[in-house]
Amino acid sequence: MTAPLTRPRANPRVTREDIEMETTQADRPALAPDAPPAPEAPSPTIFEVVVIGGGPAGATAAHDLAQAGRSVLLLDREGRIKPCGGAIPPQLMREFDIPESLLCAHIRSARMVSPSERRVDMPINGGFVGMVKRDVFDPWLRERAAAAGATRRVGTFQDLSREADGSLSIHYQPRTPDGEPVATVTVRAHCVIGADGANSLVARKGLPDVPRPQYVAAYHEIVAAPAAGHADYDPTRCDVYYQGLISPDFYGWIFPHGDSVSIGVGTAIPGFSLRQATNRLRAAAGLEQYQTLRREGAPIPMAPLPRWDDGRGLILAGDAAGVVAPASGEGIYYAMASGRFAAQAADEFCRTGDARALGLARKRFMKAHGRVFRILGLLQRFWYSSDRRRERFVSMCRDPDVQRLTWEAYMNKRLVRSSPLAHLRILMKDVAHLLGIIRA
Ligand SMILES: Cc1cc2nc3c(=O)[nH]c(=O)nc-3n(C[C@H](O)[C@H](O)[C@H](O)COP(=O)(O)OP(=O)(O)OC[C@H]3O[C@@H](n4cnc5c(N)ncnc54)[C@H](O)[C@@H]3O)c2cc1C
Repeated sequence: MTAPLTRPRANPRVTREDIEMETTQADRPALAPDAPPAPEAPSPTIFEVVVIGGGPAGATAAHDLAQAGRSVLLLDREGRIKPCGGAIPPQLMREFDIPESLLCAHIRSARMVSPSERRVDMPINGGFVGMVKRDVFDPWLRERAAAAGATRRVGTFQDLSREADGSLSIHYQPRTPDGEPVATVTVRAHCVIGADGANSLVARKGLPDVPRPQYVAAYHEIVAAPAAGHADYDPTRCDVYYQGLISPDFYGWIFPHGDSVSIGVGTAIPGFSLRQATNRLRAAAGLEQYQTLRREGAPIPMAPLPRWDDGRGLILAGDAAGVVAPASGEGIYYAMASGRFAAQAADEFCRTGDARALGLARKRFMKAHGRVFRILGLLQRFWYSSDRRRERFVSMCRDPDVQRLTWEAYMNKRLVRSSPLAHLRILMKDVAHLLGIIRA
């Protein structure tokens, strides 16, 4: 669990204009024709930190830094809804103060579907998983960062360069109201946080020697939700399909979003048709005839990068740093957690000038979550590798100990240590499944 920076804000820079401009942008993905572009101060403006990318990672980092009194610019290109299933655990809501009013659905159980169509329901006793729509959630996070004192600009990051005094120049293209190209703007910063997602240009420009991680290609269709009870659809249940025809190495999902549903699949296997697999999934769930509202896809990184900083003032967070949990593809919580760690590291770097502070973000993140990532990586490699294993995996999910530990780990982001007997029972059943002593 990560705590926000708590130093009181010394120099709030938010202006009424910033907030009003950003409120307009939150309502409309692109700048409205009547909204004037952000006024540019005589260049180059110098910030202590520039955060590039205003998704969950960047917006969290900018919020924490602004709250700590740092002068921070949050740059986001906006205009595109992040493709996402939108499932978030209660721990995220507690740790990052997310109000329940942002949820579009409350999920009370998960249904696991095996290759032979066996269905195993895993109820969440007494709790819920929250669902968010990213075209609501992300602008809300960006607005919160602005309200805490971050300066916001709409524009596309293009390049980074280093000045003689060691500071960084960030070059970006602002967006005009009618989308016309405008002259590139340059701002300067002591520290840059790259939170520009899985295809991070900041990572490619600033850390070209760090290999990019393996990706799962993910695709989903946002579909008008059927009325409750239709097509075996339950607006309070997430369905997860473990079937080789739907995904040969990951899974397919049906995640309710209130008036719509996210239906999607992921795979790391090149050439596998995600669209056809989604059609199969919709047919299997009886959801073909409902109206498709959007089709979209994006890569999901599957391993944290070995290094997140350049040792001189640049640091990555979120998908840009590769922090999505293997097996589940859960990335929102980890993006926010890594954004917070990156903010702490940047704050320490600004305070001390010691670039070794930048390395603390990855170190702290891996200390908090590295073990879970390793376990989930093993789980994915083993259980998602054939239909025979998927069948056994779903069968194991009937076990009350497996259900309790799975929900506890997901919902509260901690591995249960208090019940060694339950772990032993699971281990024995695991081994029995592997040896085929228990029938799937
Ligand atoms: C189909 C799909 C389903 C998923 N489902 C779930 C789920 O149910 N639950 C879950 O927890 N995770 C899920 N994930 C993963 C999750 O969406 C990501 O891990 C999470 O969004 C990462 O947050 P981020 O802030 O690091 O990056 P992003 O959310 O990608 O945000 C990056 C930001 O950077 C901005 N940006 C990018 N390039 C530039 C540029 N050049 N200049 C300026 N701005 C730029 C973008 O506008 C964006 O706002 C899913 C992912 C996919 C693809």
